[in-house]
Amino acid sequence: MSIAPIGILGGTFDPIHNGHLRLAQEALEQCNLAAVRFIPCGTPPHRDAPYASAQQRLDMVRLAVQDNPAFVLDKREIHRTDPCYTVDTLTALRAELGAQQPLCLLMGGDAFLLLHTWHEWKKLFGLAHIVVMQRAGGRPLGNAMNEADVALRNAYQTRLAPSPQLLHESPAGAILVADMPALEISATGIRARNARGRNIHYLLPDAVADYIQIHELYDAEH
Ligand code: ATP
Repeated sequence: MSIAPIGILGGTFDPIHNGHLRLAQEALEQCNLAAVRFIPCGTPPHRDAPYASAQQRLDMVRLAVQDNPAFVLDKREIHRTDPCYTVDTLTALRAELGAQQPLCLLMGGDAFLLLHTWHEWKKLFGLAHIVVMQRAGGRPLGNAMNEADVALRNAYQTRLAPSPQLLHESPAGAILVADMPALEISATGIRARNARGRNIHYLLPDAVADYIQIHELYDAEH
């Protein structure tokens, strides 16, 4: 069996930026993915709310992905106000796409090191592969794992895939580490720059920077 996997990138995207887009593009190429679905999360009532509204975050992701036919906006989480767990989102995607379709949950190394704190995290391996995008020049994930949670380290050691081809041969369960250039870009940094009246171009797509200006988003420093 060899089926091109579908990548999934969840995030707050407040706003989406070139770090997210480069992560998706590197995963697409290195893992030969069929597509990457960007899934902006909803606004849970009991957590810190994003600064932009759900609709604005959705609009910005749409603008960011519009020129890349392999990038897809997936709206399934955005209007939910209950806690939106990745395990539930992957369960729904699995039901839609069938048992055989390989799915790859994409994340940065920083997010992966906290995976054991996610709701029902061990179930994720029954639903998708995990592709960890390691930033060039950063601490190698293998080293960081020595100090990670024991259960997470065990999962990492037993599931580590030697090559991206494995992601095409089974629907879920492997961990692949891939590389990406280090881009010191964060949504927090972009919001802070904008609030100080600094230029945010080249950190994110022009269309998203223009949207932020037109809608007067992130004008106040928080
Ligand atoms: P914030 O600054 O508000 O915390 P963020 O820029 O980190 O936001 P998120 O929406 O929280 O963005 O991140 C979604 C995913 O993108 C996570 O898996 C995170 O590791 C990854 N990511 C974010 N910024 C970068 C970057 N510059 N390079 C690579 N991966 C990134």
